[in-house]
Amino acid sequence: MVDYTLIGGGIIGLSIARELSSRKLGDVLVIEKETHFGQHASGRNSGVIHSGINQKPGTLKAKLCIEGSHLLRTYCKENDVPIEECGTLTVANSNEEARALHTLELAGVHAGVKGLRIISQDELLEREPMAKGLCALLSPTGAIVNTGALMRKMESDIWAKGVEFWKNSKVIGIEESDDRILLETKSSIIETDYLINCAGVHADTIAHMMGVGKEFRVLPFRGDYFKFPGKVNSMVYQVPDLRFPFLGVHLTKTMQGEVLVGPTATLSLAGKENYDGGFSWEGLSEISSRNFYLWATKARLSRAMWSQVKHNRKLSKDPDFFIEEVGKIYSGEIPRESIEPYNSGIRAQLVDRSGTMVNDFLIRHTNNSTHVLNAVSPGMTSSMAVAREVVDEIERRRNY
Ligand SMILES: Cc1cc2nc3c(=O)[nH]c(=O)nc-3n(C[C@H](O)[C@H](O)[C@H](O)COP(=O)(O)OP(=O)(O)OC[C@H]3O[C@@H](n4cnc5c(N)ncnc54)[C@H](O)[C@@H]3O)c2cc1C
Repeated sequence: MVDYTLIGGGIIGLSIARELSSRKLGDVLVIEKETHFGQHASGRNSGVIHSGINQKPGTLKAKLCIEGSHLLRTYCKENDVPIEECGTLTVANSNEEARALHTLELAGVHAGVKGLRIISQDELLEREPMAKGLCALLSPTGAIVNTGALMRKMESDIWAKGVEFWKNSKVIGIEESDDRILLETKSSIIETDYLINCAGVHADTIAHMMGVGKEFRVLPFRGDYFKFPGKVNSMVYQVPDLRFPFLGVHLTKTMQGEVLVGPTATLSLAGKENYDGGFSWEGLSEISSRNFYLWATKARLSRAMWSQVKHNRKLSKDPDFFIEEVGKIYSGEIPRESIEPYNSGIRAQLVDRSGTMVNDFLIRHTNNSTHVLNAVSPGMTSSMAVAREVVDEIERRRNY
């Protein structure tokens, strides 16, 4: 029997496996349905190690993002994972946005983000000659990382610590008895003492198999990117509308030297893991639930939400509109033919029974299992802090 079995080889699963094996709490197995780790959100994100601005003070997200950013940057530096601490700039283009920057700065300082300051237009242009803004909020701890290299390093690191991997093994059933959990894959049954569910967009399905979190459903929100031959030295963001869980379109430099614009945020109607886009009946049936229909009704009835939905759909579908949007924060020419679609990603966004999106991370524990139910952005940044939080709680509950 295995002591700890994790479902999901994304950054959250690997970070928790690393924490468990570092504390030598027992043997650890990671089960992943794909042939490689990091095939979904963890390998299809912007690669930004967020500083913690944009997070509501007092939330688990704010706490774990700030702690996680420090832990992840340190891990990368100590383990030769390529990162660049280039900082983040949130630019204001009107007096109203400039006032919003002050509110963001205050919230960030209150949450514990270090080194935040508002910079003038001159300093902005010195740092980012192609940015457009009257002033900007500088978060010096914002960084970029090569996510592929990070996943590979984590994998070899935990392998060396004795963690076992079962890839190409989808968990299709779970049975509980008094003293063990039986996990069924297509070809075998695994007996485990403790289960940790880090299944991303499928975390709800796994939790429901154990009667946990029945009131929640994960809705897949697709993020499309374009890349273009622009020049930025760091990351340039619009002032976010914090009523919504997804940040507006922004410019991100990748470790490979590309400039990405995105991601958008549109409901994926083609399926939870279908990156081709469009619509399919299977995709719709995968997300159909009371939670989804209530969310959709609320989105349709709220003027602000509906305009966000339409805005994001237009951004995904219409490159000219996309260029216009980028033009709000970037002064360089973006010829239509120079932009190319880039890998899309799909966010696992939890929605409750009333159709309301859950904004904070949500982790549920039972006496023999833990379920990471809402590992939305900045989930990669926060991953090592999420792992500490989860394993601390398991240790506390199991009286180690
Ligand atoms: C477009 C986009 C941009 C983002 N940008 C950033 C960013 O810049 N910075 C940041 O900090 N965060 C970002 N995020 C968020 C971050 O990527 C996620 O929070 C994080 O990757 C979640 O990791 P995870 O391990 O929970 O999920 P995943 O990486 O999706 O891993 C879940 C794994 O579970 C496996 N699985 C599912 N069901 C089963 C099953 N039944 N049996 C076996 N295996 C199963 C899947 O195959 C998958 O590999 C972004 C996300 C997206 C989508």
